[in-house]
Order: sequence, then C-alpha cells, then structure tokens
Amino acid sequence: MSHRSRKHKKRFACGHRGYGRYCHCCAERVARKQKRFSQRRQEREQWQALFAGDAIELSHLPKSIVKKARNVLSALQQGTHYWQMSGKRLEMMRDVIRIPVTRRYRLLCQDDGDQIVPIKVISHEDYNPLTRGPKRFLSRLLSRKP
Ligand SMILES: [Zn+2]
Repeated sequence: MSHRSRKHKKRFACGHRGYGRYCHCCAERVARKQKRFSQRRQEREQWQALFAGDAIELSHLPKSIVKKARNVLSALQQGTHYWQMSGKRLEMMRDVIRIPVTRRYRLLCQDDGDQIVPIKVISHEDYNPLTRGPKRFLSRLLSRKP
C-alpha cells in the first residue's frame, strides 16, 4: 500500500502534533477550563445564595469573617450567652453588646430586654474611635445598614 493512504500525524497551528481535523490536546484543555469556570460560577452562586439566610448583612465582609460571624450568630440563636463568647456591654450604651468574631471584627448586638438582637459586624478599627466619641456616633454605627 502506498504511504499516502495511511493516517498520518500532522502539526496543528498550535504547535501540537496529532491526528484529525483539530488538536484534541487543545480541545481537552479548553473543555477542562470551561468545566472549572462553570464549577466556580456554581460555587459563587451557592455562596451568594447563603447570604439570604443570614440574620444580618454579611455580604460586604471577607469570606473568612463571614464564616466566623455565622458561627457566632448561630451560637447566639441556639441560646449561647454573649458573655460565654467574650461579649461585653458598651460602657456608654449598656444595651449594646459587642462580641468578638475575630481579632479584628466585632458583632454588635442590641439587648432589647427579651433577647440579644444582632445588628452588624464591624472591624475593630471602625469601631474603636466611635466608642470614644459622642453618643450620636454610636447611634449611627448601630444603624442597620452594613
Ligand atoms: Zn494543540
């Protein structure tokens, strides 16, 4: 048989060698990339959907802080007392309680008499100067916007 009738390896534009009308090596790479991309999109959507279940707005916070804040929120919900989580009342506003989330972040809550209501998570840096300021700054801090 003539040499020409046999399938032969050719060099594609990408530089790979192979059989067929297109480079299977590159096609597989593209398929893997698309799969990774859609997996990440799915994970992102699942992560975004979780925020709807939170008692307070957490979506503006870094992921690791969100996870720890959720632990604190669910502990509160399950009846753990704030002092068991090193929470303290503010000296200037005794009905306001701060609970450490991480070294940098605090969960602010309000004691409405019957229960401890979560208000927002803020960073230590945002919070510290305000506790030394006039009471109206604290009130602004307690507004329920993130
Ligand atoms: Zn290729």
